[in-house]
Amino acid sequence: MSWLDKKNLVAFATLGRDEPWTLANYRATGGYESWEKIIRGEISPEEIIDIVKASGLRGRGGAGFPTGLKWSFMPRNAPGQKYLVCNSDESEPGTCHDRDILRYNPHALIEGMAIAAYSMGATVAYNYIRGEFYAEPVPRFEAALREAYDAGLLGKRLRGSDIDFDLHMFVGAGAYICGEETGLLESLEGKPGKPRFKPPFPAHYGLYGRPTTVNNTYTLASVPTILRKGAEWFADLGPEKSGGTAIYSVSGHVEKPGNYELPMGIPFRELLEICGGVLGGKKLKAVIPGGSSVPVVPAEIIMDLNMDYDSLSEAGSALGTGAVVVMDETTCMVSMLERISRFYFAESCGQCTPCREGTGWLNRMILRIMDGRGQAEDLDMLVNVANKIEGHTICALGDAAAWPVQSFIKHYRHEFQYMIEHGGKSIVEAKGRAAA
Ligand code: SF4
Repeated sequence: MSWLDKKNLVAFATLGRDEPWTLANYRATGGYESWEKIIRGEISPEEIIDIVKASGLRGRGGAGFPTGLKWSFMPRNAPGQKYLVCNSDESEPGTCHDRDILRYNPHALIEGMAIAAYSMGATVAYNYIRGEFYAEPVPRFEAALREAYDAGLLGKRLRGSDIDFDLHMFVGAGAYICGEETGLLESLEGKPGKPRFKPPFPAHYGLYGRPTTVNNTYTLASVPTILRKGAEWFADLGPEKSGGTAIYSVSGHVEKPGNYELPMGIPFRELLEICGGVLGGKKLKAVIPGGSSVPVVPAEIIMDLNMDYDSLSEAGSALGTGAVVVMDETTCMVSMLERISRFYFAESCGQCTPCREGTGWLNRMILRIMDGRGQAEDLDMLVNVANKIEGHTICALGDAAAWPVQSFIKHYRHEFQYMIEHGGKSIVEAKGRAAA
């Protein structure tokens, strides 16, 4: 993990301390001050939602939906049980920041969940954690949960108030599709993680059929700092309509890959510099700026872009989960797309035909091109199949499979064409040989 300005850290605010994950260290950075104020009755649920709305916090799980607005959809005064669920099933390829929040600042998530649940009238919450995180993130979160209960910060009738809040941890089994909120709810109920038809949306029919809000780990872990430092402070860190910091998980051909918590909207050029530049001083070819599902952006475009929701969306891509995959000039875009398409094919839950059949078609057609059996019409057919998947499925996995195909062929069609015309040989290899 890295940062530029320690005082502007949100999710990684405890970093730099020995054992930053302990309750004592979290408290030393102002941790649980907001929750204790709530327990004392000093902040109302409506005030919390207004503060979060004013902060410009948007969901960090990929969609970027305004968090305060999402919370306001919850029928908080409806009778009966309501739930908050945290999505720690981080699985979009390239993304690795939520696991570091669980490892290094689990109390920020616990406090954020307590505050969020209170604002929505939910007294029970679950954190659904990816199964593969059993090594460090799961035990750290579990230990933090125990510390919070022992300190009287969680439980029933907290400090004599009428506030109840119980938080449970659930460890998944490692399916990508359980990162989709309704697939996650199904899995939490003990069923196969197959996404539900919507509507009804979880705010009205969620976990066990009760009103439920599902938020991402980083989103919830940002909330205590917003309440403590103020909506304006948070909003000012980022551009208009996208407050706060972003954790960029930078991977691929860079000198210093890792998680970087930086102001939202930092120019890509600066981000690349902070990461030490392209590996070995090579030339940048392309970047996937928000996890493997978002459209790829060529170097000549991304070098002039800011890394925020609106700037990337105007450029035809997305900030997604903030996972930045950097590719240098030696990258074969056909092989890269094959790897991505194989992932979505493998992870399709199989419920709807365009996704179940289409993702396999996409992957097999790319493999055929790589095998030297491609035909000129394959490129249009690939785009055609991707277009028929996009927007025609129950959940967004279909779109996630389609967007890389559409964008890789749009920007790098010549590489696919070269491979088709040269019996499966890559243009990158051919260029490398010519240069040698
Ligand atoms: Fe399952 Fe794919 Fe349909 Fe989503 S889009 S429900 S993953 S088959």
